[in-house]
Amino acid sequence: MELLDTLNRPLHDLRISVTDRCNFRCTYCMPSEIFGRDYQFMPQDQLLSFEEIERLARVFVGLGARKLRLTGGEPLMRRDLESLISQLAAIPGVEDLAMTTNGSFPLARLESLKAAGLKRVSVSLDALDDETFMRMNDVDFPVQRVLDWVEASAAAGLGPVKVNMVVQRGVNEQAVLPMARYFKEKGHILRLIEYMDVGASNGWRLDDVVSARELRDLIHAELPIEPLEPNYRGEVANRYRYLDGEGEIGIIASVSQPFCGDCSRARLSADGKLYTCLFAIGGADLRSMLREGASDDELTEAIRGVWQKRADRYSELRSAATRDLPKVEMSYIGG
Ligand code: SAM
Ligand code: SF4
Ligand code: SF4
Repeated sequence: MELLDTLNRPLHDLRISVTDRCNFRCTYCMPSEIFGRDYQFMPQDQLLSFEEIERLARVFVGLGARKLRLTGGEPLMRRDLESLISQLAAIPGVEDLAMTTNGSFPLARLESLKAAGLKRVSVSLDALDDETFMRMNDVDFPVQRVLDWVEASAAAGLGPVKVNMVVQRGVNEQAVLPMARYFKEKGHILRLIEYMDVGASNGWRLDDVVSARELRDLIHAELPIEPLEPNYRGEVANRYRYLDGEGEIGIIASVSQPFCGDCSRARLSADGKLYTCLFAIGGADLRSMLREGASDDELTEAIRGVWQKRADRYSELRSAATRDLPKVEMSYIGG
């Protein structure tokens, strides 16, 4: 019988954070004032090993998860990620195996990632001009190298490549149209993401969010679009196609039109905690169970129990009352 939570949502996707470290310091995610030289990242022995991740993933797949996504922090910071990918790709029942990356690692990695069994990549890029992008990644990383990664991913058969852009008012709104034009022309799917109040370090304010409606109007005025049907239940992006018949664009309205009702995602943090919402305060400690010798059946029952009790719908409840609740950082829980 299908595993459902208290709001009848199935467990369909598992996002696996493989590290809390990153070589970027995006101001909306890991601001350098907080994630500075002295910041204490997780020590190696607290991270799940690849064997531990594979074992948990197998249990999640047994409970209905069909899509796995590697994330972080920056997943490519984890040494020999290809070995984990090949273990995950071998799990019977896995229909999709994807990774979200900042696209900053050498292009040669794409061949080995593909050979290991990775199916798709999503790449994050917040502007087409170096001035804006470097201000946002805060490590002077140039746009062109990420664009090269996008093209090389598609050429390696890791498409359709989705490009994720977080839009912040007064920071990179002006980059939206150039990004839309560029990726339409190149045939990749741009997804505009409303800036979210994840974590406690980015100083989020509602005024900084450019709403999905504004984003749609901005695109439509220049490049006319019309809505498309979702591909599947739980798809987070509102999809639009360009009226000239060439390409599509997605808008992720996490703040202004929350989609908790269809949220089928579980998140596994790099230290083995199971979170049932991006905004959860705490997670179930699966690593301790693993290291104390729990059997697969015991792990299955523990995860089933957590999911059956799940009632999260933070974004639908977002209000002044939720604003000051403690939250975990995106780089820790995995975006
Ligand atoms: N480092 C990888 C990357 O940047 O693609 C993977 C992890 S990152 C946390 C995953 C996604 O979360 C990225 O697309 C990033 O832009 C997005 N993200 C991070 N902080 C966010 C925020 N406050 N609001 C909306 N999206 C955010
Ligand atoms: Fe790193 Fe991704 Fe967060 Fe940027 S969004 S700091 S690349 S984890
Ligand atoms: Fe899912 Fe939580 Fe986001 Fe709602 S707020 S869509 S439950 S992760």
